Amino acid sequence: MIPGPIEVDPAVLRAMGEVTTSHIAPNFIESFGNALKLMRKIWLAPKGQPFIIAGSGTLAMDMAVSNLIESGDNALVISTGYFGERYKNILATYGANVTVLQAEIGETVSLEKIEVELSSKDYKLLTITHVDTSTGVLTDPKAIAALAQKYNTLSIVDGVCATAGEETQQETWGIDVVLTGSQKAIGVPPGLALLVASEKAINVWKNRTTPVQNYYGSFTNWLPIMQAYEERRPSYFGTPPVNLIRALEVSLDLINTEGIENRVATHITYAKAFRKAVQAIGLQLVPKTNDIAANTMTAIYYPEGIDGNSFRKDISEYGVILAGGLHAEIKTKYFRIGHMGAITKSDIVATLSAIESALQKQNYNFEFGKSVGIFLSSLA
Ligand SMILES: *Cc1c(COP(=O)(O)O)cnc(C)c1O
Repeated sequence: MIPGPIEVDPAVLRAMGEVTTSHIAPNFIESFGNALKLMRKIWLAPKGQPFIIAGSGTLAMDMAVSNLIESGDNALVISTGYFGERYKNILATYGANVTVLQAEIGETVSLEKIEVELSSKDYKLLTITHVDTSTGVLTDPKAIAALAQKYNTLSIVDGVCATAGEETQQETWGIDVVLTGSQKAIGVPPGLALLVASEKAINVWKNRTTPVQNYYGSFTNWLPIMQAYEERRPSYFGTPPVNLIRALEVSLDLINTEGIENRVATHITYAKAFRKAVQAIGLQLVPKTNDIAANTMTAIYYPEGIDGNSFRKDISEYGVILAGGLHAEIKTKYFRIGHMGAITKSDIVATLSAIESALQKQNYNFEFGKSVGIFLSSLA
């Protein structure tokens, strides 16, 4: 129950275990081409250009920026935690003039502040962390992308803890890049960087006046490969991770069969019920209000007097694994629970039971069993 890598569907694991074929074997070309096609559907970006590259989510962040930024361009980072900080560092690496709008811990940056900043100078692009995994704060990419369009600024959404779990309509909302890694809500073991670029983003990349300052992640190297696989032609730049891509095809197919809207709706239903349950036993979330709390994960403060390390150790004895803190300023004060992908009600019930048992062991004062009851009755 950590916010990635998540547990994956058995069908996805079985696909990982299939025979490793050549990267130009007809069955693999078919899988790769199909995975690209499915990404467009799940990203809701029928005209977008998908990329599937061996690497982690950070590579997708790196690719989005390195292909669009030229040295000296202005870039705006809307930061709600740890991964906003990472975007600042990536942008600085490519010579961007970076401005960071930093939210207080557990809050978002207001649209007013973003608009004031966008109107103050020409920004080439802005970055949004859809769900910052260090705070569990959910940002509204729709409203921010609309502002970006108004000021002719490209928008990049780091969806690593969101895509396929939080609502994202890339094309309708006018987002230029939506990126993720395979091991979060997409539901595949770690190892794939995934991104979809808008037609506008591809045009900005084509019209660069300086070369991309990144060899492995350059669209120049990868765009022809993606196009070839979609047209079912053999092609090579760097050997694709064939087993992972086959597993991705299976997972995307499962999501597509369920329907991305349904998949997102289930995340919302479970997350709402889960928040209600933990709040009913007096626990406080890191996000200041429920409307900016993520639906893929939850970040919760330890109550006064609870020792975090023993709490998480006791929980693990129930077969539940939670994550500790990630945000430097509050690292030891909170814990994180992932509830994305192929999660079931029973997984959440088991988690709540473990949390309650561990709290009771440290004499936390609450009504034992209450959170489980609240969770189940909210779903009924
Ligand atoms: C996990 C995560 C990343 C980094 O992904 P890696 O696969 O670990 O490189 C980036 N952004 C967010 C929001 C994440 O949750």
